[in-house]
Amino acid sequence: MPHPALPTLTSQLPAGTVVTDPDILAPYRQDRAFDPDAGTPLAVVRPARTEEVQTVLRWATEHRIAVVPRGMGTGLSGGATALDGGIVLSTEKMRDITVDPVTRTAVVQPGLLNAEVKKAVAAHGLWYPPDPSSFEICSIGGNIATNAGGLCCVKYGVTTDYVLGLQVVLADGTAVRLGGPRLKDVAGLSLTKLFVGSEGTLGVITEVTLRLLPAQPTACTVVATFGSVRAACEAVAAVTGKIRPAMLEFMDSAAINAVEDKLKMGLDRTAAAMLVAASDERGSSGAEDAEFMAAVFTEHGAREVFSTSDPDEGEAFVAARRFAIPAVEAKGSLLLEDVGVPLSALADLVAGVEALAAERDLMISVIAHAGDGNTHPLIVFDPADPDMTARAERAFGEIMELAVGLGGTITGEHGVGRLKKPWLADYLGPEAMELNRRIKGALDPDGILNPGTIF
Ligand SMILES: Cc1cc2nc3c(=O)[nH]c(=O)nc-3n(C[C@H](O)[C@H](O)[C@H](O)COP(=O)(O)OP(=O)(O)OC[C@H]3O[C@@H](n4cnc5c(N)ncnc54)[C@H](O)[C@@H]3O)c2cc1C
Repeated sequence: MPHPALPTLTSQLPAGTVVTDPDILAPYRQDRAFDPDAGTPLAVVRPARTEEVQTVLRWATEHRIAVVPRGMGTGLSGGATALDGGIVLSTEKMRDITVDPVTRTAVVQPGLLNAEVKKAVAAHGLWYPPDPSSFEICSIGGNIATNAGGLCCVKYGVTTDYVLGLQVVLADGTAVRLGGPRLKDVAGLSLTKLFVGSEGTLGVITEVTLRLLPAQPTACTVVATFGSVRAACEAVAAVTGKIRPAMLEFMDSAAINAVEDKLKMGLDRTAAAMLVAASDERGSSGAEDAEFMAAVFTEHGAREVFSTSDPDEGEAFVAARRFAIPAVEAKGSLLLEDVGVPLSALADLVAGVEALAAERDLMISVIAHAGDGNTHPLIVFDPADPDMTARAERAFGEIMELAVGLGGTITGEHGVGRLKKPWLADYLGPEAMELNRRIKGALDPDGILNPGTIF
């Protein structure tokens, strides 16, 4: 039985925008956190223009219907999980891009994939740096809404560093422009940044103005394997204390083996850890930095160090690192962590997770954007085994406690979503949590935008 208010919405939008076919709705219920409690939405609404998003939100406010904004559903914190009786607002049809090579900016609609943005701007000799491992399958709108990180953040920063402006539709349907294609603009409060990382709880992003860089110089890549995770983490800190690598990624033994099982590229299955590092400094400096990193890795007891300036060879190792999550996912269901610590505590965090895995008798594979101190412990479990599931859920909380105890955060780049909501108030403290709530209340007084995410 369709919701009595749904025909009013359908009649105000182009044919085919509102979809209620259960077979089409099914894949929109969950994101990559695979929340087993995901609801079944009334409809998936796929607007193509900002005005249509306004129509949807005016209607939702009038009828007090929850709206879950959705990009490509690759989120790992359950932020795009559908709700019973709500609608999913998918941005997949909003795909325009315009590039201004002089100001080095691009105006982009949210549904374009990160990889498509990179490709479009590359045609102008430009580069959009943020590169989540999921860059080929996630939307730019989702990246802004989660303030996504990635592999090159260690040198180039995260998504927010490239957001100059936004168009956002608020809960009541008002469309507001914040910032724009101006490289300097300090008029008013910094509201653009407020919406970056707001996980669909403050408004729907319908357009973004991105800052671009000149094309990235070719990188020199260094890959090293270690007999202990602590030695590898200490090598990371020794590198970042001296230079700014363009990438500094970590995989533990379980991740190396899971990737090798799938890709069969000859990775050292006996290594306790592998680092994949790169420098893209111009001229001879890139090779010098690579040489420096190779020497640091050797000093820290690396068993094998391999350097290359061949982009294809380098990319094979980067692709292996990017493939780590799907490879470990093949071993069982995952509870995917995203904790980060100051770099001086990285070795203690990774060693602490290793100890926790032994204590709870679980496979917990650690991969990390190590140069940022941002780790992804991947807790593998079998949902059909209640005892193992309970141990996995317990370890999920314990890892956050471990990180916070080391001066770290409960999420470095994936966001709070629904998964981490129970830990947020303790992490932020009462004053900051209350400030968050007041901002949410001011922008979305009826609580229709992504209820249950963050708040
Ligand atoms: C294999 C794999 C590797 C990954 N690697 C990384 C990584 O290296 N770094 C990283 O940061 N993340 C990573 N992710 C997580 C994920 O890809 C990012 O969080 C990404 O930014 C989500 O984009 P999406 O389009 O899939 O958004 P979705 O999952 O659809 O949505 C994510 C959140 O944003 C909100 N949202 C989406 N679009 C809008 C909009 N237009 N307006 C308002 N709110 C919106 C949703 O409500 C939800 O809260 C990885 C995921 C996978 C599966």
